[in-house]
Amino acid sequence: MASGTGRVCHFKLVLLGDTAVGKSCLVVRFVRDEFFEFQEPTIGAAFLTQSVNLENATVKFEIWDTAGQERYRSLAPMYYRGAAAAIVVYDITNKESFNGAKSWVKELQRRGDPNVVIALAGNKADLHTKRRVEYEEAQKYAEENCILHMETSAKNATNVKDLFREIGEVMYVID
Ligand code: GDP
Repeated sequence: MASGTGRVCHFKLVLLGDTAVGKSCLVVRFVRDEFFEFQEPTIGAAFLTQSVNLENATVKFEIWDTAGQERYRSLAPMYYRGAAAAIVVYDITNKESFNGAKSWVKELQRRGDPNVVIALAGNKADLHTKRRVEYEEAQKYAEENCILHMETSAKNATNVKDLFREIGEVMYVID
């Protein structure tokens, strides 16, 4: 069967994580296959759609990109409520952002949809020479918390489509 044929599934997906980890850039890379060094900060939240074609289905994501600034944090539940999937982003060159990601995962597991599929994205993988978070540490945390984990680069596109495809596959299986 040609890829992308068959069933079309719609899922709400939210991006969470500290400010400047690259959430908007990941969305722009996935949706438009572009990258901007000076991505405008997201105010509140932005909404975009994009599909991934699986072998027997098309998964259409309704993507909510949230602002990471502390002053918007209280708005986050509004965006992750009803989300079937969440990408929690940290910056591999910023240890503090990994701690931030862990607190987002905890919040999602406590207050998000009980079946929410969570993926942890270690972004800026192109800057691996300045790495402050080891892949193995994040992978161990992800396994202990039953969440997906991938290192990505919105800048050079590494693993960005793969991340969404992997989430799409999990969503399709549990839908
Ligand atoms: P957000 O606040 O989490 O949405 O972060 P942005 O998407 O606005 O990105 C913050 C900064 O990080 C910008 O200067 C981007 O150009 C930069 N950036 C985002 N993704 C990457 C990446 O994969 N690699 C590198 N080197 N820089 C990135």
